[in-house]
Amino acid sequence: MEADVVILGGGPAGMACALRLAQLIDAHNVVHPDKPLTKENICMLEKSREVGQHCLSGALLDPRAMRELLPGFEKEAPLDAEVTKESVYFLMAKGQRKFPIVPPPLRDHGNYVISLNKFVKWMGQKVEEAGITIFTGFAGSELLWANDSTDWDAARVAGVRTDDKGVDKEGHPKANFEPGYDLRAKVTILAEGTRGNCAKALIDRLGLEDPEHAQTYGQGIKELWEIPMGRVAKGEVIYTLGYPLTSREYGGAWIYGVSDTLISVGYVTGLDYQDPRTDPHHVFQSFKEHPFARRILEGGKMIRYGAKSLPYGGWLTMPRIYGNGWMLLGDSASFLNSQRLKGIHLAMKSGMLAAEAAFKAMLTGDSSAGTLGDYKTAVNESWIHDELWPVRNFHQGFEHGRIEGMVSAAIQQIMRGGVFGPDKTNPPGYTCMRRIDDLGPSDWERAPIVCNAKGDGKLTFDRLTDVFHSGTRHDEDQPVHLVVEDLNLCRERCTREYGNPCQYFCPAAVYEMAESENGGRELKINFTNCVHCKTCDIMDPYQIITWVPPEGGGGPNYDGM
Ligand code: SF4
Repeated sequence: MEADVVILGGGPAGMACALRLAQLIDAHNVVHPDKPLTKENICMLEKSREVGQHCLSGALLDPRAMRELLPGFEKEAPLDAEVTKESVYFLMAKGQRKFPIVPPPLRDHGNYVISLNKFVKWMGQKVEEAGITIFTGFAGSELLWANDSTDWDAARVAGVRTDDKGVDKEGHPKANFEPGYDLRAKVTILAEGTRGNCAKALIDRLGLEDPEHAQTYGQGIKELWEIPMGRVAKGEVIYTLGYPLTSREYGGAWIYGVSDTLISVGYVTGLDYQDPRTDPHHVFQSFKEHPFARRILEGGKMIRYGAKSLPYGGWLTMPRIYGNGWMLLGDSASFLNSQRLKGIHLAMKSGMLAAEAAFKAMLTGDSSAGTLGDYKTAVNESWIHDELWPVRNFHQGFEHGRIEGMVSAAIQQIMRGGVFGPDKTNPPGYTCMRRIDDLGPSDWERAPIVCNAKGDGKLTFDRLTDVFHSGTRHDEDQPVHLVVEDLNLCRERCTREYGNPCQYFCPAAVYEMAESENGGRELKINFTNCVHCKTCDIMDPYQIITWVPPEGGGGPNYDGM
């Protein structure tokens, strides 16, 4: 199939890109009715069964990008509450301290509490009304290339191949087999979210990431809770630092008042921790047991669960975002402000700017890097740069822990994002993981972080109960979509060196070291639980796990999240 533009991924970045492109074409066709452009050859591929089902975030929306894209959007968009009150707390094991003032980056007046799932569904309707087709249930399994070059300036992306349907677990075609489509496109726009599989392949093949500034990630775990009236007000925002993470780990919690009786509560753990037994799911459960959170949640009911990774690295870790026939957007390209804990507006703006470059390519028939480079120029000249450049060293400043990180953040505030000397470099987060033998005595006393506990079923939950609340569904008779290169390495070397950390960092109980038939233990992969958070692809210490898309349509169902 031939297309002018293919947008891979129907999250906020992809939707904003599609809408802006449709607006530009409509405006062009009014002025140039004699040379109209068509939207028929523009399409979006989305791997979830319905638009928005794989979209997960806290979520707070900074409305800046939306006001540019659809002025007056507030009148009809699904916004749960306008932020009216913020507070920040530092939690100790027994007690908490309220920050006397809310640090400026965490002041959220004017932002909205939203369900990203509902918001993206609404954007999807706008995209379809604008005349752009969204194919749901189709994942991009690989990129199509016009040549074999691995040089950025010579290589050209020629489109996307979608996933095969109807393949059994042995890899054989079933009765309903349908091979994937080759969508040949002049411009391929990758908006797959964090650690997209096609974006990862592109970045690796063309060497787009600077190894001195590797992307770093966090894992966010979220639950929706119904709580008794009077505990958290609609539009109230609470952030916490500290417990249960120690000063060595990066992360913190949020509580957002969706309504007077419904809250979004979650915890982000930086995926650059040292202890291989760190268990982000358990970190969140321990947070809920702290008296501060317990007072809010007790007597309430958890109704939904989800987990995803998010890119923390910011401006310095942004890979090259354009080339011949392709552009990278949103979380796939590091458009997130980790100081403000916000990325939706940046993802949308990146999509809008990419749309302008794609529109120029449609007009001129030239989709080379020369034309699509306008996207990067526009990013550099936009408020994306103004927002991300002054916080470019923020996350990197925490490499030696919380205290140094806060001092570094204060210095950066004075130096407009700078530090003494050159900008900070950082390795990939998985390289920070220490071997079991290297852990000191104090590491073994950190049960709130490393213990994979069962939960009490009221306030805290085990992974399987949580996965049930994520609505995750995959056809069991399909190839395992977590490709582990060397199971012997898992069984022997990883057991010895790192204690199989996949059992702990996966928030969905996918990985399990189970008794094997011939004695001993081997890695069992319960792939149908996978909530597509991509943590295993990111955090495996040997980098031998590759997340590939399961058959399109499979995965979580984040309705209302
Ligand atoms: Fe996340 Fe990997 Fe577990 Fe799936 S298998 S939920 S992508 S860590």
